[in-house]
Amino acid sequence: MNLEAKQRFSLNLDRSLRYRSHMAFADLPNEEAAVEIFQESLNRDRLAHAYLIASSSTASVESFALEIAKTLNCETPLRSSETEAGIDSCGSCVTCRQIAAYQQADVTWIRPESKSRIITIAQIRAVLETVHLKAHGAAHKIFIVVGAERMNLQASNAFLKTLEEPPAGSVILLLTTDPHRLLDTILSRCLRISLSTARRISPESDGYEWLTRLCERIQHQRRGAGTRYHILSDMLECLTERKTVIEETLSASSPLEIHDDLEPKLRDRYKQELAASIEAEYRKQRADLVGLLQWFLRDIWLQTLKANQALLQLPDLAPQTGEIASRIKPAAALKNLNIADGLQRQLNTNVQEALAIEVALLKIAL
Ligand SMILES: [Zn+2]
Repeated sequence: MNLEAKQRFSLNLDRSLRYRSHMAFADLPNEEAAVEIFQESLNRDRLAHAYLIASSSTASVESFALEIAKTLNCETPLRSSETEAGIDSCGSCVTCRQIAAYQQADVTWIRPESKSRIITIAQIRAVLETVHLKAHGAAHKIFIVVGAERMNLQASNAFLKTLEEPPAGSVILLLTTDPHRLLDTILSRCLRISLSTARRISPESDGYEWLTRLCERIQHQRRGAGTRYHILSDMLECLTERKTVIEETLSASSPLEIHDDLEPKLRDRYKQELAASIEAEYRKQRADLVGLLQWFLRDIWLQTLKANQALLQLPDLAPQTGEIASRIKPAAALKNLNIADGLQRQLNTNVQEALAIEVALLKIAL
C-alpha cells in the first residue's frame, strides 16, 4: 500500500469509527429525502414548530427525532455553506452526547405507558406544565411524543392548543407508525416528514410474544384441532389481558376517579364516555393483534412462493414461517390470508368475538 492509499485508508477507518459512536443525519443515507426536507427548512429559516414524523418502523422515527433534537441544539453544528445555518449535528459535543444518551433536560420524551400502550391525559398534562418553563441551557426545548397515535381523544385534545402555538424556541415532534389514526386536527397542525424505511416487525413489537408462542404450539404439537384450541385460548387470553390493562389505565384517568361528588347526570355521561373510550382502544389493539397474524400468514405465503427473504415482515421468524410453508401449497397459504382478512373485517362489525376468531383459526392451514 503506498502512502496516499494508507492515509486514505486510515481516514476512512477513522470516519467509520467516529460514525459508529456518534450518529448524525449524514449516517441516515436511506432517509436522504426526509433529511433534505428538514435541512431545507433550517436553511430557509423556516423551522416549523411541530413535525409529524411517520414511518412503519418505530426505531427509524426515533433515531430521526434524535437527530433533529441534536441538530437544533448542537454546540458545533455542521453549517450550510450557503446560509451558515446549522444543518447537522457534530455528534460529539457535550449536548449532542447528552441528547443521544436521553439525558438532556430540554429534550422531553413522552411514551405510551408500557402496560396499557396508551398515552394518557395525565402524561400530557404533566408535560404541558413544563412547556412554558425556561430551557436548561439548550437552544431549543424539544418535546418528542413516541407513538403519537396512542394518545387517546382526551390526551389529543389537551395537546391541541400547545401544538398550535408552542412557546418560542420549542419544537414538538410527533412520531408515529400509524398516521391515519391521528386526529385531523392534530395532523393539520404539523409539518409531515415521511421516512422511507421499509416495514419490518421487530421482536419488541406488541403481540410478538404471542406470535412466538403460536409458533411453538405448532412445532411441538400435532397440528390437529387440539393445537388450534390452544392457539385460540392463547389469543383470547392475550386479548383479555389487554382489555384489563386498558380498563385500569383509562379508568384511573377518568374524572369519575378524581371527583366523587359528581351530579348523577354528569356521572352517567362520564361513565358512558369511559366505556366508549375503553371499547375504542380495545378495538384498536385487537386489530393490531389480528394484523400481526395477517403479517405472519403473509410471510408463510411468500415462503411457499420461495420469494426473496428481504420481503418478509417478520425476518426473525423466518425459520418458523419457512417450516410451515414447506408443508402447505401456495394456494392454501393464500387462502389463509383471505381468512385472516375476513376475520379482521368481521371484527369491525358487531360479530361475537370469540366465535369469529375460533371459526377463522379452525380454517387456517398450518
Ligand atoms: Zn454537537
